[in-house]
Amino acid sequence: MELKTAADFNFKGKRVLIRVDFNVPLDKQNNITDDSRIRGALLTIRKILSDGGSVVLMSHLGRPLKKLKEDGSVDYAKYTLRHILKRTSELTGVEVKFADDCISNNAFEMSSQLKPGEVLLLENLRFYKEEEKGDAAFAEKLSKHGDVYVNDAFGTAHRAHASTTIVANYYTAANKMFGYLMADEIKHADKVLKSAEKPFTAILGGAKVSDKILIIENLLNKADNILIGGGMAYTFFKAMDGKIGNSLVEDDRIQLALDLMDKAKRKGVNLLLPVDSIIADKFDAAANTAISESGRIPDGWMGLDIANNAIYDFTQVILSSKTILWNGPMGVFEMPKFQNGTKAVAEAVATATQNGAFSLVGGGDSVAAIHQFGLADKVSYVSTGGGAMLEYFEGKELPGIKAITG
Ligand code: AMP
Repeated sequence: MELKTAADFNFKGKRVLIRVDFNVPLDKQNNITDDSRIRGALLTIRKILSDGGSVVLMSHLGRPLKKLKEDGSVDYAKYTLRHILKRTSELTGVEVKFADDCISNNAFEMSSQLKPGEVLLLENLRFYKEEEKGDAAFAEKLSKHGDVYVNDAFGTAHRAHASTTIVANYYTAANKMFGYLMADEIKHADKVLKSAEKPFTAILGGAKVSDKILIIENLLNKADNILIGGGMAYTFFKAMDGKIGNSLVEDDRIQLALDLMDKAKRKGVNLLLPVDSIIADKFDAAANTAISESGRIPDGWMGLDIANNAIYDFTQVILSSKTILWNGPMGVFEMPKFQNGTKAVAEAVATATQNGAFSLVGGGDSVAAIHQFGLADKVSYVSTGGGAMLEYFEGKELPGIKAITG
């Protein structure tokens, strides 16, 4: 798919409405603790400004209508995008203006008066329930802020919200496109999904099978190897009549685990489980630990990480791969005693990448892990997508993408 992007458009004299994802983490004093989402939009903003256009930024911050104050009112002071105004000015190098309501007369007045090189930030879109509802009248109003619409918020592309999807209906095909960040996400995901060089290995981990069923199903049609670690592995062991002690298990997914293993066999996909586990006598950073075969865990113990033989098996497969997709940790990596498997996998992915493989890491916790181990710049691409990336790899069409590509 040839993507229509901001790179190929001349924005001279245009007022450009950009959907960004400035949903940054804030501390108790409302200071930004990680500004990478703002940085992520800079390429797009700079391109428009240097072409001679002006920019209207719109974003959400948190879920203000879901997280009300104790008295039931909206916490405007907590969820205002004013918190990020100063940092956005610093990073863009432009004194960013602020409209304290995204669709007020004042906001339209401000956007209509923007001159080339100027930037306006609109107040939190989610102060309006119409945003998440994908309300057409609200989306049409938003569209009045710009002659051109750019979507650079991959993290919300799986939601048919007013600003991520519906607003695009009010622009001609020529006047809507992806920003650099979003185009980059799609390009890298497509490289894995649509033109993976073989052998293609997917590494899946995390807590629950139920969260990963659709992605496993879809990857069974594409991958040569599927490595399964993390809490979800024990449902597979139980399905094979293994003893898993107190390990995480989803009893209602046992038949599904059997079906997935059967499908893998029929399709010739190597679905590999961790032969051994680091087990613990409680879910605690200070628990006593031992090593056990993953299907022979004693009563009262639980598997919290993959152990050495599993690490060896997984590493061999990873090192012989040309394309690698990694989603989800191999164990409870937040606790030092159970981080070894995730770290070893991260290192193997980094080494394979160094040897020429293409590797994409995505999904909240594996992204956190790759940063924690200082290896983020040793893999080919780290997705900022979260839920959007998961749905893309499930084979779903994302509404935010379809709204632009048609
Ligand atoms: P997910 O959000 O489904 O990707 O799951 C990530 C979470 O799964 C992390 O917080 C891990 O600590 C947790 N996790 C990974 N392995 C295990 C395990 N063996 N037992 C319990 N939790 C686990």
